[in-house]
Amino acid sequence: MEKTEQLYEGKAKKVFATDDKDYVIVSYKDDATAFNGLKKGTIAGKGVINNKMSNFLMQILEKHGVETHFVKELSDRDTLVKKVSIVPLEVIIRNISAGSFAKRYGVDEGIVFDEPTIEFSYKNDELGDPLLNSYHALALKLATKAEIEKIKSMAFKVNEVLKDYFKKLNVTLVDFKLEFGKTSDGNIVLADEISPDTCRFWDSTTGEKLDKDRFRRDLGGVEDAYNEMMRRLMGGN
Ligand code: UDP
Repeated sequence: MEKTEQLYEGKAKKVFATDDKDYVIVSYKDDATAFNGLKKGTIAGKGVINNKMSNFLMQILEKHGVETHFVKELSDRDTLVKKVSIVPLEVIIRNISAGSFAKRYGVDEGIVFDEPTIEFSYKNDELGDPLLNSYHALALKLATKAEIEKIKSMAFKVNEVLKDYFKKLNVTLVDFKLEFGKTSDGNIVLADEISPDTCRFWDSTTGEKLDKDRFRRDLGGVEDAYNEMMRRLMGGN
């Protein structure tokens, strides 16, 4: 399928229409932002890695019964996906304290939770993606009760599948952000991406950060970290 007009340009991806109204093409860029767009940069090769890694992980999830937007990888940076309307919620699952959780509650990073946590933020850049709970999401009509329940159970399922998968690669899945979309027939599917931009990955032996925190925190070795995750997951393919 071919790209027709550009529908949208986000921070890390562009979205193009196709001849078929039910499908769009996402095109991954090397642009990186953090802190709600305050920090900007480029991570060479990131678009290719995130495209391939996200597609690979979505296919694993599909095998485990999680429906996703993924249809077909078209090239290094481009993927055909189902057209969805994105539910304006960022869904964050955490297994270990880090980032804004550690900051908000005044705890160290690296505390292993007995049970994973879930939190929602309202996907709204102007407001800085404020945290909200499912009652707020309902009040704001961001999703229905049934949709929120489905999103919660899908998100925890994604965590179980990915946590186990990464464990075998000596990678600890610390936390991650998911987005969900609604297809034209009203079905909720996993959308957006799963990549070092949207997950925290720590080497299980050394604790080395293998994700976007290297960019956010100016730790250096950003490209190396993305390449290493790609190598562990897909053997460099
Ligand atoms: N995350 C994301 N996009 C966002 C905010 C967070 O992909 O806009 C991911 C982030 O990479 C991490 C997880 O969600 O894996 C939890 O992020 P956190 O709330 O700790 O925020 P941060 O410290 O990144 O500001």
